[in-house]
Amino acid sequence: MHDDYVTMKNGQIWEIRCKGCGTPIKTMLADDQPSETEKINGRTIVRERLYLAALSNYKEVLITFEDGSKHVTPMCADCAVKMQTDKKLVQSVYEADVKQWKSEGQKINKRDEKRKAAKVDRIASVIGV
Ligand SMILES: [Zn+2]
Repeated sequence: MHDDYVTMKNGQIWEIRCKGCGTPIKTMLADDQPSETEKINGRTIVRERLYLAALSNYKEVLITFEDGSKHVTPMCADCAVKMQTDKKLVQSVYEADVKQWKSEGQKINKRDEKRKAAKVDRIASVIGV
């Protein structure tokens, strides 16, 4: 398990790795859009537009908990499939998310923190909530 799966840079998410195997699943890439240029004191400054791009192995996993509540979490395609048959992995993935939320200073109520994963509902490139 990779609990430390988010890299921040200048207050922005720079990279997200799979919580199962640590492989990058989202990373900051330069946009194809023309970059902005600006002249400051006679020097040309080029600003590239960056965006957090989902890589080809990026999947979203919809977890259902024993209390019926749901949670969407990003994983790599391989680990997403493993989660379907490994409830322990699903639970530790959720616990890694809780840890990440706490490190971001989010308040999580005790009930949500103690949720027990029941199953993986769905795996897709994007799960609309
Ligand atoms: Zn993985």
